[in-house]
Amino acid sequence: MVKEAIFILRFQNEGMSVWDKYKRYVEQACLGTDTSHWSAVDFWRNKLFARAISFIIPLSLIALIPGIYIAFITDNQGLIIFDVIIIAGLITLAHLPNIPIQWRKIGFTFLVYSVGIMLLFLLGNAGPGLVYLFAITIFMIIIFPSKYSFLSTFINTAICLIFGLLLHYELVVYSTGPGTERIGFEAWVAISSNLIFLGAVFSFLFPHLFEGMKSSFEKQEELTKDLKQQQAQLKESLQDLENKNKELEQFAYVASHDLQEPLRMVSSFMGLVRDKYNDQLDSKGKQYIHFAIDGASRMQQIIIDLLEYSRAGRVDEEKEICSIDEMLSEVREELHPKITELTGMVHWKSMPDVMAYRTHLKRLFLNLINNGLVYHQKGQKPIVQLSYEETETHWQFCVQDDGLGIDPINFDKIFVIFKRLHRKEDFAGTGIGLAICKKIAELHGGRIWVESTVGYGSKFYFTIKK
Ligand code: ADP
Repeated sequence: MVKEAIFILRFQNEGMSVWDKYKRYVEQACLGTDTSHWSAVDFWRNKLFARAISFIIPLSLIALIPGIYIAFITDNQGLIIFDVIIIAGLITLAHLPNIPIQWRKIGFTFLVYSVGIMLLFLLGNAGPGLVYLFAITIFMIIIFPSKYSFLSTFINTAICLIFGLLLHYELVVYSTGPGTERIGFEAWVAISSNLIFLGAVFSFLFPHLFEGMKSSFEKQEELTKDLKQQQAQLKESLQDLENKNKELEQFAYVASHDLQEPLRMVSSFMGLVRDKYNDQLDSKGKQYIHFAIDGASRMQQIIIDLLEYSRAGRVDEEKEICSIDEMLSEVREELHPKITELTGMVHWKSMPDVMAYRTHLKRLFLNLINNGLVYHQKGQKPIVQLSYEETETHWQFCVQDDGLGIDPINFDKIFVIFKRLHRKEDFAGTGIGLAICKKIAELHGGRIWVESTVGYGSKFYFTIKK
C-alpha cells in the first residue's frame, strides 16, 4: 500500500498547477524514494509532516510581513532577523535532499520551539508563545512515534519552569494589559500548567488512536495477503481440476473408442452363432443369445453416447456466427423420420444469429427436440415449439413440448449422466443426452434448466453467453 501511494505521488505529475507541483516536490524531497520499510501508520505520519511543511512555508511568509511591521514600530530588529532565520530554516528543511526524515522532523520541532520561546521572551505577553508551544506539542505527538509522545510534555514543563524563574527574577516581564499588574510566579504556574496538562492529556490519548489505526492497517494488510494466497491456491486448484478433467475426458474417449472393437466382435460372433446353429438351439438357447446380442447392442449405444459426452467438452472448432434458423431446419431434417413416425410437429418463429460452436450447439438443439418428441403423451401427436429471449449478456432459448412432463423432484437429476426417469422397455435411451446438453451450455458460458408439470409438458431453457 505504501509503495502504491508513493508511486501515485511520483508519477501523477501531468496537468498539475504550480502549487500542486511545489507540494509534490516538497513531499518527494521529504519522503525520499525508499519507503518500503515504513509501516502504513509511519507512512501517513511522514506524509502529514511533509504536507504540513509545504503549507507552513507560504503561511510563514505571509506572517513575516506583519511581523516585520510590528518589529519596525516596536524598533525590534532582533525579531526581524529571527523571523528570517526561521523561514530560511524551514525552506532548507523542506528542500534539501538526502536528509533522513527524522532529522527534518527534529529540525522542524526545534524551529517551532525556538519561535515559541522567542515570542515568550520578546513580546511581553505569554499568549502567542504558549499557543506555539501547544501547537508543536500536538504536532510532535502526531509526527513522532508513539513511544515519544510524552517528550513534548517534558520539554514544555522545562520551558515553563525556566520562564517561571525568569519571571520570578524579573528577567522577563508579562502583564495582562497596559497598566495592569505584572504576572508573578504563582500566576505563571496557573497559566502554564494548562499547557502542560493539555499536552499530557493529548500525549496520552493520541497514541491509542494511532495504535488502533496501526492494528487495523495491519489486519487489512494481513487480510489482503491471505486473500491473495487463497486466490493463488484457488487458481492452482482450478488448473489442477481442469487438467484432471481433460485427463478424464481423454480416458473416456480412449476407453470407449477401444471398447467398440471387441464389442463389435462379441455381437457379430453371437449373430453368427445364432444364424449357424439356429436349428440346434432350443428356445432357451435362442433366448440367451437374443439377450446377449441385445445387451451388446445397448452397450454399443452407451459407448457411442459416452464418446459423444467426452467430445462435448472438447473444443476442436472455432466459434462462428450461427444462424439458428438454418440450424433448426437441419435438425428438423435429421429428425424427419421420427417426426413422421409420431406425426409430430416442430416449429419456431424467426431466430437470431449467435456466436457459438456450431456442431455443439446443433447437438444441444437436437437432443432437446428429440426428447420433446420422444417423451410424448400416449396417443397424442407431439408438438415442440422453440422460442428465444435476449438479455444483456446472454441468449436464452426455450424448447417447449406438450409431453409427459417431469416431477419437480427430478429437475436436477435428469441432467446427471445415466439418470433416466423411464424404463428402457417404455422409452429407449441411455440417459446421456441431457448431460451432454448441460456440458454444451456450460461450454458456451451458460446453463440449462427445466420447468415442468407432470402431464402438462416441459419447458427446457438454456442460455449461451453473447
Ligand atoms: P435419454 O433420453 O437417453 O434417457 P436424457 O439425458 O436425454 O437421456 O434424458 C434423461 C431422462 O430425462 C429421460 O430418460 C427422461 O426420463 C427424462 N426426460 C428428458 N426429456 C424429457 C421431456 N421432454 N419430457 C419428459 N421427460 C424427459
